[in-house]
Amino acid sequence: MQVLANSGAGPAGFTPLSSNASASKSGDRMLTDLSMYNTPPTENITLEEFERLALARLSVLKEMEAYKLRHPNKTEKEYLDKLNQLKQKHMRGISSSSSSSAQPGPAASSTSLRDEDVRTDLISHYVLRLAYCRTADLRKWFLAQECEMFRLKFGTYNAAEHEAFLAAHAPQYRPVPPAELEEVMDDILRVMRSGLETKEALQRAQNDRRFYKVSWTRVPELVAQRRVLLRGGWAYVSRDALAPLVVAEFRAGVSKGLSDMARRWRQMFPPEEEQRLQPLVASLANRSLVADYSGVATRYGSVSAASLPSLASRHFPLCMSHLMTSLHSERHLRHGGRQQLGLFLKGIGLPLEEALLFWRSEFAPRTPGDQFDKQYAYNIRHNYGKEGKRTDYTAHRCTTIVGFSGGAGDHHGCPYRRLDEGALRTALSRLNCDDRKLEEALSKAREGHYQLACAAAFEGIHRVPEMDVGISTPLQYYAESRRVCAEREAAANGGAAKGPAGAVGEAAEGAAGGSNTAAAGAGATAG
Ligand code: SF4
Repeated sequence: MQVLANSGAGPAGFTPLSSNASASKSGDRMLTDLSMYNTPPTENITLEEFERLALARLSVLKEMEAYKLRHPNKTEKEYLDKLNQLKQKHMRGISSSSSSSAQPGPAASSTSLRDEDVRTDLISHYVLRLAYCRTADLRKWFLAQECEMFRLKFGTYNAAEHEAFLAAHAPQYRPVPPAELEEVMDDILRVMRSGLETKEALQRAQNDRRFYKVSWTRVPELVAQRRVLLRGGWAYVSRDALAPLVVAEFRAGVSKGLSDMARRWRQMFPPEEEQRLQPLVASLANRSLVADYSGVATRYGSVSAASLPSLASRHFPLCMSHLMTSLHSERHLRHGGRQQLGLFLKGIGLPLEEALLFWRSEFAPRTPGDQFDKQYAYNIRHNYGKEGKRTDYTAHRCTTIVGFSGGAGDHHGCPYRRLDEGALRTALSRLNCDDRKLEEALSKAREGHYQLACAAAFEGIHRVPEMDVGISTPLQYYAESRRVCAEREAAANGGAAKGPAGAVGEAAEGAAGGSNTAAAGAGATAG
């Protein structure tokens, strides 16, 4: 199956150099840590590894995106440190070759570790390309995250590493030899002084003294802005000006690769793969990286109708505590609210009989018991899989809830989206949310990052360190809240508590098992 076959050289026309001893030595880190992804992998891998690598990269991209949104003012170095930390957390040691590649001796093992990192990076990038090429929105998101990762790494490496990387991946950017630079340096500085360059950029260029020659046709904007010296058809580009150009080349290459793949998507799966690999790849883009929180229903003992008010005040996310409050004050909830709250209560372990008791008593002042049984009981039993098609419905995730819109009198949906700022501030203050986190939650809600707002509120209410990602499901909020409180109570009593597996953001969905072989490379065959 030609899953990832490439059509010749990369879109930017890069041709890897066959050898460059000094470059490979000084830029070792660069050559293994960064890639233009011009050549797809060609080996056969198992379906299980195929999925595992994709989900690991997805976790890195999503957590990095969330981190940048939550911390827009960090330095590039801090972002890079975070990226490396996430790669270490999600991608190190997950390749199937990691166990078999152990070699005796420190040099050999560092080589095999590096090879493994390169392999993991390459395969995971191409699997996600395959999954994210299918719609314009998916392509846009994937391209933005990959470009940002590339920009971050490329922008923070030193001159020798840049040189090594360009020699291997973008030889059209040629370092200007020292003797030639001596000749043209005054002219370069003259052009820079007369152009748009800042004093700082000029100073950096003088100190750095590293310039690259590139055909002027590749940098028409710099030429038009008179920011580069032109001589003999070459433009002399400083290292400062180089990074955006290389990032743009990377963007163009990945973007073209995604478009090509989208056009050939169906042809990439032979008929025998339509039932196996195609659905798996198609589902990757929609996969949640959130742990399965269904275990919370039994982990902390039984939940009864009587215990709900106290659980709601301590452990429910705002969307659910808001519904509980509205239900209690109005003695009624419309269908959307009943569904949102009812399925959540089922998810935290409220048995059917207790659910009927709870809803009946909440509705009682306005709705007599026999009317309740006729009008509402069927729907509650239906949610528990006891009526109709007997489907066992699960609680809504945040993405679904955030998308709910409702009219006056509706209380469902996500409060970070639906409540105005004053009402949100009052609601969070009532929950004793820390002031700084409250402001952060309001600011994230204002920017439209509702799940990050919810995570900030969780941290402010529970006084816990920052989460890696936003809240993805109300059950996650509830499970984490119960875990944090249980651990604190156990610590206060001198014991240890066991929470649900995995802290927030750590528990990516396990990769589906399977020993079938999937093709991960050009010309590879899924067996
Ligand atoms: Fe509920 Fe999710 Fe909104 Fe938090 S982000 S309030 S859990 S819908």
